[in-house]
Amino acid sequence: MQTFYWTEQQLVQAVNGEQLNPEVGARTFDKVSTDSRQVDAQTLFIALRGENFDAHQFLAQVVTAGAAVLLIAERSAWEALSVRLPLAQQPAVILVADTRLALADFARWHRRQMPLKKLIAVTGSNGKTTTKTLLAQVFARAGKTLATVGNLNNDFGVPRTLLCLRPDDEYAIIEMGANHRGEIRYLTQIAEPDITVITNVAGAHLEGFGSLQGVIETKGEIIEGLKPESGVAIFNADMPGLDFWLEKAQTLGIEQVKLFAIEQLSVPYPALPRVTYSAVHTQNAAIQFELQAEQQAAVSVQMPVLGEHNAMNAAAVCQVALSAGLAMPQILAALQAFSGVPGRLQQTQIDCGLLLDDSYNANPESVKAGLASLAALPGCSIACLGAMAELGEYSAAGHREVAEFAAKIGIDALLVYGEAAQPMAPIFLQALEANGCLDGQQSAAFSEHAALNEHLTHLLAQWMQQRGTPINILVKGSRSSRMEQVVQFLSARH
Ligand code: ATP
Ligand code: UDP
Ligand code: MG
Repeated sequence: MQTFYWTEQQLVQAVNGEQLNPEVGARTFDKVSTDSRQVDAQTLFIALRGENFDAHQFLAQVVTAGAAVLLIAERSAWEALSVRLPLAQQPAVILVADTRLALADFARWHRRQMPLKKLIAVTGSNGKTTTKTLLAQVFARAGKTLATVGNLNNDFGVPRTLLCLRPDDEYAIIEMGANHRGEIRYLTQIAEPDITVITNVAGAHLEGFGSLQGVIETKGEIIEGLKPESGVAIFNADMPGLDFWLEKAQTLGIEQVKLFAIEQLSVPYPALPRVTYSAVHTQNAAIQFELQAEQQAAVSVQMPVLGEHNAMNAAAVCQVALSAGLAMPQILAALQAFSGVPGRLQQTQIDCGLLLDDSYNANPESVKAGLASLAALPGCSIACLGAMAELGEYSAAGHREVAEFAAKIGIDALLVYGEAAQPMAPIFLQALEANGCLDGQQSAAFSEHAALNEHLTHLLAQWMQQRGTPINILVKGSRSSRMEQVVQFLSARH
């Protein structure tokens, strides 16, 4: 039998489990799966209970696929199966009280074995994936770096990512997301980071938190995983949560607290090291700004991406990387080579102008950031916005706020998709009219992507004929609005 990375004995110890069939002898594995459809002879299968399925019902299938080890929480499910199975065909079977917690325990145990130089945990309402991707590119220049793949940032994704660590990894960048209080605490206590960073707080996922204070407190949980003597807590000094986080860091005895902030707005916290970023200029579809770290000369940065918020993300990244001992030239080189994350304000040239694909997700703050980037481009602007989900009772006000903002900053056309977004079309025109600026702008609301796409085709044909300027288009919406269907449609227009 081939030998893989972990032994079932290590797993038993890490999760404090009971091996139900020790007579099968030693088993090893190097893959962890929670999906019965993705199992082979190298796999530990963990049976989780979800909203739709209890994976204990798939044990027979998993055994047939040759899984090396099973981790289960239901003794009877294995007993029913084992009576029909000769020993030679049995995986090692380990019983625990709760398989979700056992996955966390195993990931924590594994992380502790790894001789990493630094593990960095990133949370915030917006910008986690962007900051994580930037950090991964910066740290890759300093040593072998593992980062969260895609958006695997929850109670399942974080342990899975940690289990991908191997002894030659030097740095790990772990994204942590939350819909509810307590989730970031759970994740940070698994990952035990050396450095944590909170990118920002905004009204994201208000439904699960109740209020902005709820969001602030939940993001603040990330520092609970730091070791007080050696850990570094990094905060965005321009966020309303700063006082709360500073007090919490003090209560926990965290010795190293650092900040990043916008140059002209930040309040003085002289005792804390900070990285500041200057106002942003957008030119040739790139952002330009300055970064200044304590006691270092300011450096000028040009990043080939859009969005003023990316200067904020860059400042966060710079503070993290400096705290980990990296040097400014290394950091700067990686920032300047960054070309964005798919679906997050990524730009493509199409026949009429620039297409800004920000279709990955949305909340009022990130939509406003996207609209501001669109408005900063030379030419005219069309915003295709899908409904924003998970806003709870703030939904109507949030959609109104965005429509009024679009009018205020001079967007030329607003096309909206989805039920909650329907009122935005008339609000946009009313706001323009109220300000005496209604002059050829237009808006329309749709309940089908195809209808929006068709409208867009006619509008572009008309404007390309009438107007001699580029026509830039922003596409954005919550995941559930599936605005990538508009992006795909427009991408065909090279
Ligand atoms: P999720 O909670 O879905 O994982 P996230 O926090 O990982 O989101 P990103 O995927 O990096 O965030 O970006 C999501 C959106 O937020 C994008 O539309 C991006 O343009 C915008 N954004 C990125 N960084 C910031 C920031 N610092 N402030 C405000 N908006 C931002
Ligand atoms: N599952 C599985 N095989 C299947 C369907 C589901 O192993 O054919 C697993 C799935 O990967 C998850 C668990 O069963 O770990 C619970 O599934 P559910 O869809 O309820 O989970 P959710 O993703 O909603 O938490
Ligand atoms: Mg993300």
